[in-house]
Amino acid sequence: MTNYWNTSGIPHKGWILEDVNDIREDGQSVEETEYETCMMCNNERIRFVHIVSHKDFGNELKVGCVCAEKMTNDYVNPQKHEQRLRNKAQRRINWSKKEWKVSKNGNLFLKVNDHHILIYKDKITKKFKCKIGEHFGKKQFDSIELAKVSAFNGIEYYKEKNEW
Ligand SMILES: [Zn+2]
Repeated sequence: MTNYWNTSGIPHKGWILEDVNDIREDGQSVEETEYETCMMCNNERIRFVHIVSHKDFGNELKVGCVCAEKMTNDYVNPQKHEQRLRNKAQRRINWSKKEWKVSKNGNLFLKVNDHHILIYKDKITKKFKCKIGEHFGKKQFDSIELAKVSAFNGIEYYKEKNEW
């Protein structure tokens, strides 16, 4: 296995942090998680993939937090992004444990921070749809579980846009 830290022609400094992804984002369990390997040191088994780029290097690299910090010479932001994703993952777990109420029509509903969340069955397609606050989601889902995941992502989206 190549360790890029010892390979000539690979810059050690001057990398830019482009993005950080949680490979467990789709709700995988610990056992199911296929961890990535840090492309720089080949040692770190990583869940949070830090994508870095360099003007003198053609490809982006997927690396772990430790290498990302050294490569970008930034000891704040890589961990900060990781923490943000950890918090989101925890919110997703909490969300999956929420107990939904059933309306008279058989729809599921929930109140979150004064916003009304609704999962209902489309009368024509018989698939599930979400309504978040006053927003009707356009997507349709085969299962209630998928609709719940989508509602979570919708709420996160509105939070990011500060419309929550
Ligand atoms: Zn590494």
